Amino acid sequence: MNRIYFDHAATTPVRPEVLTEMLPYFTENFGNPSSIYAWGRENRSAIDRARDSIAAQLGCTAREIIFTGCGSEADNLAIKGFALANQKKGNHIITSAVEHHAVLDTVKYMTKLGFEITILPVDQYGMVSPDELAKAIRPETILVSIMYANNEVGTINPIPELAKVCREAGVCFHTDAVQAAGALDLNVDKLGVDMMSLSAHKFYGPKGVGLLYVRKGVKLDSLIHGGGQERGRRAGTENVAGIVGMAKALELANAERLEMNARLTALRDRLIIGLRDRIPEIRLNGHPTERLPNNVNISIRYIEGESLLLNLDLKGIAASSGSACTSGSLEASHVLLAMGIPHEIAHGSLRLTLGRKTTEAEIDYLLEVLPPIVEKLRAMSPLYSPS
Ligand SMILES: *Cc1c(COP(=O)(O)O)cnc(C)c1O
Repeated sequence: MNRIYFDHAATTPVRPEVLTEMLPYFTENFGNPSSIYAWGRENRSAIDRARDSIAAQLGCTAREIIFTGCGSEADNLAIKGFALANQKKGNHIITSAVEHHAVLDTVKYMTKLGFEITILPVDQYGMVSPDELAKAIRPETILVSIMYANNEVGTINPIPELAKVCREAGVCFHTDAVQAAGALDLNVDKLGVDMMSLSAHKFYGPKGVGLLYVRKGVKLDSLIHGGGQERGRRAGTENVAGIVGMAKALELANAERLEMNARLTALRDRLIIGLRDRIPEIRLNGHPTERLPNNVNISIRYIEGESLLLNLDLKGIAASSGSACTSGSLEASHVLLAMGIPHEIAHGSLRLTLGRKTTEAEIDYLLEVLPPIVEKLRAMSPLYSPS
């Protein structure tokens, strides 16, 4: 059976061009970048080239990039590292209710270290309002962390406006841009952000490598102590192959971004319209227009997301009921609940995220197999009475 992958928000395959760039660093170019002989120096310059390339893509300087082990680590470093280095200035941190757990759980953890937190509500589309943010800022506020694009419903936040509120209040602004990379503009000056997290495996790079952009002048404590790598801000021998792969993946993603967005938006809308035509009583979660080009998130009344996923899997289709981390648990998505969607409807949600290899034929196959699955599950549901 052909398998169809509709879960690109969870992870993406490494592109062949990226793998080719990476391979030599596992074998012949294996030296430690901190060593002074040729093997080491070659690896040091590979990291330098990757850092320069990424800096050019983000519109920042190479010194403003810290390589990390993943997107989650970048989020942790931004929040814990900044809070610990700046606690003399204040102890209040603001985030939003729909953040990825790498941000939300980290911010909540800071209360154990004596920090106070505010978790901003979102509107029905999952968007954070700059006015609400302005109202939540206090004299003790030191840090705000709001995601660029949501990983479950694809809603895009007004980052330049949110960042402006923070800049005017003298508060540091971090954004988790992990889900935005490849689809949205990542220029840090246009966005106005002070810190930004990325993860390579979400844009066709390898797993196990990410980065945190940190604007010059922003003070950060290190979370991992040891060697002097990353200018003392992240100890540990660098993941050279991963870093090289991430740089290549970002170059390719940015070069193809607009063309890819146009193609994916058309496929996404074909899918949304097709689902609405074929399945009664569904709702689209997330913003109708301010959403990632590859994201479809729907709630299907009277059925459960988990049974839907199992039935789709039997047909060879990989999808998600929310974030990868909540699948497998029976809790409803914190994102959908924060958007005011009732528990029973949030439970029947399905996330389909398209990728650069997704075809019209795959969309049409899904549109063919999903409606009968929904009918079957609804027929078993005590709540459902077809009108
Ligand atoms: C995937 C994801 C992360 C975590 O990145 P990892 O590299 O998997 O740790 C963080 N934030 C968002 C929005 C994500 O989608």
